[in-house]
Amino acid sequence: TGVYHSLVHLSEHNKIPTQPNLDTATYVLSQFPPLEQAETRVALIDSATNHRLTYAKLHRSITSLASGLYHGLGVRKGDIVIILSPNSLLYPIICLAILSIGAVITTANPLNTQMEIAKQVLDSAAKLAISSPEEVHKLSPTGIPTLLTTHSKDDQLSVEELIEKCEPLEIQQKKPTQSDTAAILYSSGTTGTSKGVVLTHSNFISVMTLLKWSVDVSKAQDDIFLCFIPMFHIYGLAFFGLGLFCSGTTTVLMQRFDFQGMLEAIQNHKVSNIPAVPPVILGLVKYNGGGYDLSSLRRIGSGAAPLSKEVVDGFREKYPWVEVRPGYGLTESCGASTFVVSDEEAKARSASSGRLVPCFSAKVVDIETGLALPPYREGELWLKSPAVMKEYLGNEEATAATFDEEGWLKTGDLCYFDDEGYLYIVDRIKELIKHNGYQVAPAELEAILTGHPQILDAAVIPLEDEAAGQIPIAYVVRAAGTDLTEDQVIQFVANQVAPYKKIRRVSFISAIPRSAAGKILRRQLMLQSKQQALSK
Ligand code: AMP
Repeated sequence: TGVYHSLVHLSEHNKIPTQPNLDTATYVLSQFPPLEQAETRVALIDSATNHRLTYAKLHRSITSLASGLYHGLGVRKGDIVIILSPNSLLYPIICLAILSIGAVITTANPLNTQMEIAKQVLDSAAKLAISSPEEVHKLSPTGIPTLLTTHSKDDQLSVEELIEKCEPLEIQQKKPTQSDTAAILYSSGTTGTSKGVVLTHSNFISVMTLLKWSVDVSKAQDDIFLCFIPMFHIYGLAFFGLGLFCSGTTTVLMQRFDFQGMLEAIQNHKVSNIPAVPPVILGLVKYNGGGYDLSSLRRIGSGAAPLSKEVVDGFREKYPWVEVRPGYGLTESCGASTFVVSDEEAKARSASSGRLVPCFSAKVVDIETGLALPPYREGELWLKSPAVMKEYLGNEEATAATFDEEGWLKTGDLCYFDDEGYLYIVDRIKELIKHNGYQVAPAELEAILTGHPQILDAAVIPLEDEAAGQIPIAYVVRAAGTDLTEDQVIQFVANQVAPYKKIRRVSFISAIPRSAAGKILRRQLMLQSKQQALSK
């Protein structure tokens, strides 16, 4: 039939819970270690301050904050709360408190500009913002009521205060159900600008179950995880914001990634397990030693962008005691869809992103004919799973274009399976550019560029980059008689977008190649940019 199924069957005690009246927070809290262990078992350690949070304290903080949000601030089921903060011990508390009331989280990259954040507040119809003091100024033009994460000078109410002061009073409203919306995360999908990916409690509960399986709970309690993956992204949210607490592990949290800080954290906390991204793994391959003891490391994961065979092999050679476990996933599938389960299988297939995780099915579809393809044939990857998103928020057209009539999610990634069910991602067919694992939507940058009075037309495409994976570059058609420079174009965009979205190179051309229907012929430009690079 051309359908690939997960070859893993979840054991009886690890099945995805199907009762309709279950929400993500209730599920996660039910997986916490038993009371007698929860008082001493550490869930989170702040790498900067060494502040520790036990599972019991985490639990109490979540219920206190939920009570404060509900009784104090009037947050109700279905209300949307935007979180604007780097990683912190408070982040998972905030997420779980919001979810336990049945309210909905939408997360924003703290690097985003005022304009980008205003757009998200408007699109998601957020009612309340929770922000770190450093970022709160970006919310002021929106006029949205805002709760700070930590105490600050001007005596504004904070999450910390609510946790300290609020009794965990009962919340008297209908509990959320599995089919209710839990989160709206933003992704540009296969085309166009950023869209709200509607993820339900059922999506998250499925992913939590799969995560428990992938982490191997029986051993996880001896693990020390390191988190620098941002929790505003599905990778960080599903893994560290929610999922790992179901395994009783300890996580060392970094506010944001820095290479030196990572090495120190590994040594100081005897970190054993790092879910990472390709640039971090490349950094470790290139690292010349500096006296840090990395012998505690047992496993490094990779996701969010392609990891090359050369980097995997280079890493294995340098750190032979560490297992490399790549995975593949997307916001629309609520996280990992494939994953490498054992080091043996990974070693034999350095370029593979692993096999389908439990409860996932896939098709590889010929781009021209739409037919499902057998092993080793390349086509677009389509996915089906209880973890796959419900829809794009308020965007029926994009939703309809992303799902086929049988409910398959079109990923926009070109890939093939081998005859043992291992997935190989070959290329990206969709427009999306990934810079250090972060999404950059060409359509968003093109809209900014064509908004410049001296630019007639523009196209943005990725250029391969060893360190960052890809960088966005632009082809620009200048209005006749203008002398716009490359630097001016770069600056014009940089003033309006988060730093990772910056255009890094501009070529002026006489016309952007377009199809008869007006679509930018990106492949043609990509080929052109490759040839330009070669001739330099
Ligand atoms: P996001 O929604 O930000 O997680 O982006 C999802 C996209 O990142 C996927 O559709 C892929 O294009 C890319 N991606 C994620 N994991 C991998 C991987 N292991 N190999 C290649 N590309 C990946």
